[in-house]
Amino acid sequence: LEVIEGVEPRIAEATRNELADQRGSLKLIASENYASPAVLMTMGTWFSDKYAEGTVGHRFYAGCQNVDTVESIAAEHARELFGAEYAYVQPHSGIDANLVAFWSILAHRVEGPWLEKASAKNVNDLTEEDWEALRRELGNQRLLGMSLDAGGHLTHGFRPNISGKMFHQNQYGTDPETGLLDYGALAAKAREFKPLVLVAGYSAYPRRVNFAKVREIADEVGATLMVDMAHFAGLVAGKVFTGDEDPVPHAHVVTTTTHKSLRGPRGGMVLATEEYAPSVDRGCPMVLGGPLSHVMAAKAVALAEARQDSFRSYAQKVADNAKSLAEGFSKRDANLVTGGTDNHLVLLDVSSFGLTGRQAESALLDAGVVTNRNSVPRDPNGAWYTSGIRLGTPALTTRGFGHDEFDAVAELIVKVLSNTQPGTTKAGDPSKASYTLADGVADKVKAASAEM
Ligand code: PLP
Repeated sequence: LEVIEGVEPRIAEATRNELADQRGSLKLIASENYASPAVLMTMGTWFSDKYAEGTVGHRFYAGCQNVDTVESIAAEHARELFGAEYAYVQPHSGIDANLVAFWSILAHRVEGPWLEKASAKNVNDLTEEDWEALRRELGNQRLLGMSLDAGGHLTHGFRPNISGKMFHQNQYGTDPETGLLDYGALAAKAREFKPLVLVAGYSAYPRRVNFAKVREIADEVGATLMVDMAHFAGLVAGKVFTGDEDPVPHAHVVTTTTHKSLRGPRGGMVLATEEYAPSVDRGCPMVLGGPLSHVMAAKAVALAEARQDSFRSYAQKVADNAKSLAEGFSKRDANLVTGGTDNHLVLLDVSSFGLTGRQAESALLDAGVVTNRNSVPRDPNGAWYTSGIRLGTPALTTRGFGHDEFDAVAELIVKVLSNTQPGTTKAGDPSKASYTLADGVADKVKAASAEM
């Protein structure tokens, strides 16, 4: 930090403040974690200065031998850890990984057969007429994914996202009574819609998914099954999700982030079967430019960590702690979507406290509890104000929290929410954003969490 201080002191100060904030609050954002010092230090090296467009052994730049080493090791760890046939470690983020996956599926299923029909080696060989026809065909494909309010991600076909614009999209949800994924309804929708890509995976669904069943549905309608395991990759790596709950043996293509429950650097990754590997390997130049070599190096370090036995026990604790947190809420009469959890997150419906997600998120932040507001299924408050709070256990489990601490966290959260009153707008109407937290509660909660 002294080095940074000498160049731009405000950045040094913000960095110090960020450390204090991350260590001094209860970090319950389900997609965040604390990467190890080894991972953080690996990101801060001169690999950042190297360009390496292309793929291992086939670069558009000279002098990439060390990047080749780093990328190969990261991919090898990923293949071994997840039992995947192929791993692509270049994507800079989860969104990039999903874009690489979409375009790889389109390349394999649409462009490849088209080129074959036109007896062309690649798109540069096509006549202008064929090229236009191929572009129309690529833009005419269908994607079916889980809706945002059921717990899916923006990139799973949400209209404002590119995934909802580049595909004809359709969405599946959860059962209105139970909040659980309804495989029968999913199959019916898939039969009717006939997607080229069926996306499974979620950001805010507190339950496990049976990927074997979803693969059966994909096979029945001729879809490619893409699973986005960004949120629960750590539970797959740590063998908490096995058999039908492990997406890797069942999906054609699996995408993930590396920074959430997997506890690595910020980044993305694509795993694929041998069949899809050649098109995924063309991620650069298809979708990406130069890879972040320093981050690929940090991915290799994080994946090596995730292959250790200690990571398995960490992953199991993440899931056990989520159950403790859910039980802590249930016994204090707080309302959870699906009634509980069997992964790393819980979704608390805060409407029974008379609050929106936005009010609850802000009041909790005042008390040093960092969460994020989230839609609940069929949310009357929409995606901005929401009616829910999403809470995850990966970060505080890294800090060593166990059953008792998570029970105490539930108690503190209920204390804040039951001491928060919704506010009004300037015109005196009910507000979805303003709130009043009773005097003294924030300080008491902060003091209690500092003891943990
Ligand atoms: N996929 C899922 C399921 C996610 O939850 C997220 C991030 O929240 C992403 C993809 C996107 O990841 P990133 O923010 O790294 O682009």
